[in-house]
Amino acid sequence: MNNRNNRIVKSIQRRVLKYLLRGDNLFCPICNKGFITFLPYGVNRANALCPYCGSLERTRLFWLYVMQREPDFFLKTKRVLHIAPERILFNKFSSASEIDYYPGDLFTEGWKYPKGTIKLDVTDLKFENNFFDFVLCSHVLEHVPDDKKAMRELYRVLKPGGWAILQVPIEMSREITYEDFSITTAKDRLDAFGQFDHVRIYGRDYVHRLQEVGFEVLVIDIWNSLSPNERFKLGLLPEEDLFVVNKL
Ligand SMILES: [Zn+2]
Repeated sequence: MNNRNNRIVKSIQRRVLKYLLRGDNLFCPICNKGFITFLPYGVNRANALCPYCGSLERTRLFWLYVMQREPDFFLKTKRVLHIAPERILFNKFSSASEIDYYPGDLFTEGWKYPKGTIKLDVTDLKFENNFFDFVLCSHVLEHVPDDKKAMRELYRVLKPGGWAILQVPIEMSREITYEDFSITTAKDRLDAFGQFDHVRIYGRDYVHRLQEVGFEVLVIDIWNSLSPNERFKLGLLPEEDLFVVNKL
């Protein structure tokens, strides 16, 4: 089956499943709907994808934090940069009339992007200094060879007093980030970094990398603030922290 047909079949499956899976076991805080289960996604993630809105664990983590920190975030925030926009958040941002919204991506082959996404390179952003109030860049930097350049660019375009959420997958048992730029093929990257298009595995020094470009970094532990029942019900990844950065 070619990619297009595969996408059509998956889309039909999703449309059917979002009704069949309605229930009370799990709850998606973004679409406010309950389900018997979420759908599997990625490698060994059985309970990850919301059948209704397509949110993933990290999308729901972002949502929980933002709604807790600033319930009127979508009314108060003026200018937003969203790298590699998740569709459900794209819909939320673009329908917020107060927000001047810039969703962008490098446009990787094989991926579909919400209509209105602009082409951009996170290591070479065509925006002036101090332009954005908020930036969301989730699970992008692990794909970018020169991640330090991308971090510098994100810092540059953020206003003083602005903030961002910069999520990456991290192996918390690893102190130092593992990267080896002699590894370039999809197969070798899969073997070395766990995914064919990743160029590193971040360790706990991710925080230091962000601090080096000037960010103040807050590591927010939502997981341990929730009860076991809440963690299960919201379908979150165990121990996933949220990396909130400020430009002072
Ligand atoms: Zn949902």
